[in-house]
Amino acid sequence: MNTLLQGKNIVIMGVANHRSIAWGIAQSLHNAGANLIFTYQGERLRENVAELTAKIGANSLLVNCDVTKDEDVEAAFALIKEEVGVIHGLAHCIAFAKTEELEGEYVNTSRDGYALAQDISAYSLVAVARAARPLMTEGGSIVTMTYLGGERAVPNYNVMGVAKAALDASVRYLANDLGKENIRVNAISAGPIRTLAAKGIRNFNSVLKEIEEKAPLRRTIDQSEVGDTALFLFSNLSRGITGEILHVDAGYSIIGG
Ligand code: NAD
Repeated sequence: MNTLLQGKNIVIMGVANHRSIAWGIAQSLHNAGANLIFTYQGERLRENVAELTAKIGANSLLVNCDVTKDEDVEAAFALIKEEVGVIHGLAHCIAFAKTEELEGEYVNTSRDGYALAQDISAYSLVAVARAARPLMTEGGSIVTMTYLGGERAVPNYNVMGVAKAALDASVRYLANDLGKENIRVNAISAGPIRTLAAKGIRNFNSVLKEIEEKAPLRRTIDQSEVGDTALFLFSNLSRGITGEILHVDAGYSIIGG
């Protein structure tokens, strides 16, 4: 336990189950004294989130929010404003692409699949940053989740890599817009972790194996390591950092071919 986030209200978007990176972040922030608010994608997932928050004894506000719907985003932040007033942080841990677009050649990406991946995985950060901004009256920190596939052509990551490139660029543009209100925007580029979203990526096991063999730390990373980095980015310790992509990947991204 620590008190780095005592008295801070932080919204966490994207817990699906106990393996979710968002849940790793939630545990680190909870241990630092933050008051957490969770959004989930549709009522189907509410129970999962409620069970998890009960386990750590967090008395959290749970709010429905499908990020493809403007009305959901507006209603979610209106409810959060009503219930907690000011927020100090937002963790955006949301992405989606059709499974069939996550294999084979990127050149075969469909128009629909491209638009869907961009909408959920990149545009949603813009939409939620805009909705969160009026609640961040004391300044704030927004953290999103990205992957190396936005910087390099990673086999099978395809349309999601292009969405992550857009997300990375959005981090810089949003950081520039919101910095004057002392709202910082950063991304964590996590190494591969076995989660529900990762299941959709073909040959994910061989990706993990390659990291174990080649990453400087000779191992993969886990949700708690992303969680602790997010804690740093939400805390005052990172007050001089914005528009940054921070790699939490056991060093894999520095290795040459
Ligand atoms: P996950 O499946 O646990 O989380 C993905 C979340 O996105 C789910 O909670 C899902 O409900 C949510 N989501 C999808 N569509 C949505 C919508 N329309 N509205 C609201 N929520 C929606 O998987 P994860 O791996 O924890 O993914 C979290 C983030 O981390 C994603 O951005 C992912 O790209 C990123 N990431 C994952 C890895 C990895 O290897 N797992 C590595 C780097 C980055």
